[in-house]
Amino acid sequence: MNQTAILSALAEEQQGLIELLHEPQKITHAGRDFWRGHLHGQPVVLALSRIGKVAAATTATALIERFEVSRIVFTGVAGGMGAGVQVGDVVVANEFVQHDLDASPIFPRYEVPLYGQSRFACDAALTALLLDASRAGLKSLTLPTARLLHHGLIASGDRFVSGAQESEALLSALHAADHRVLAVEMEGAAVAQVCFDYGIPFAAVRTISDRADDQAHVDFPQFVKEVASRYAQAITQHLLKLL
Ligand code: SAH
Repeated sequence: MNQTAILSALAEEQQGLIELLHEPQKITHAGRDFWRGHLHGQPVVLALSRIGKVAAATTATALIERFEVSRIVFTGVAGGMGAGVQVGDVVVANEFVQHDLDASPIFPRYEVPLYGQSRFACDAALTALLLDASRAGLKSLTLPTARLLHHGLIASGDRFVSGAQESEALLSALHAADHRVLAVEMEGAAVAQVCFDYGIPFAAVRTISDRADDQAHVDFPQFVKEVASRYAQAITQHLLKLL
């Protein structure tokens, strides 16, 4: 079938994609709505991951088992963590780590038990295309100031990080274990792990909606409402042309 799944975290990001979908068909499964159709001539399934790692893992599993997708691409927003990762910038993931996974001292901190690893890599070929699409997408948007495109490690966990101190503590604990993260969100690592289990290519792009600091609860909803969907739409459209 060669279908591409486009996973969004939030309805605001998905709406623009549903509007562009040809021959849309809504299928309800596992308490979720999935949209099957064509975008730029490509067969796609659009889905909402829902928020948090477990919900995202269920959605990813359904996409693979029920819809038999060939690849999963995640578009969403995230909190900026690394120095120089600012609101409006874009981060394309090369790997994911779960910042709230800690089975120490039985397993090293951050290691996913029984996998012998703490990071899950994104698919190199699909990620290269997503980088090109993100670059082109950013260029096509009329933005008030220049935005940077970053590429690197993203941390996921079941927590909306919204405090400068909290963010600093998270960052230094991760650095101590040699995980240099650029952004924090709540789903990506779960989807990466599911895709690893099934051998399905996965790539993810996150637009920075906030700095995971004391302002995050204000910046996040404003960004999602005003700009997130435009980024998701622009990047996804460019990607589908490249596939
Ligand atoms: N009540 C909000 C909850 C969103 S949670 C709503 O539904 O509008 C935040 C979402 O954006 C998650 O999907 C997460 O992946 C991402 N995100 C953005 N900024 C984040 C941050 N600072 N910390 C954790 N996740 C963040």
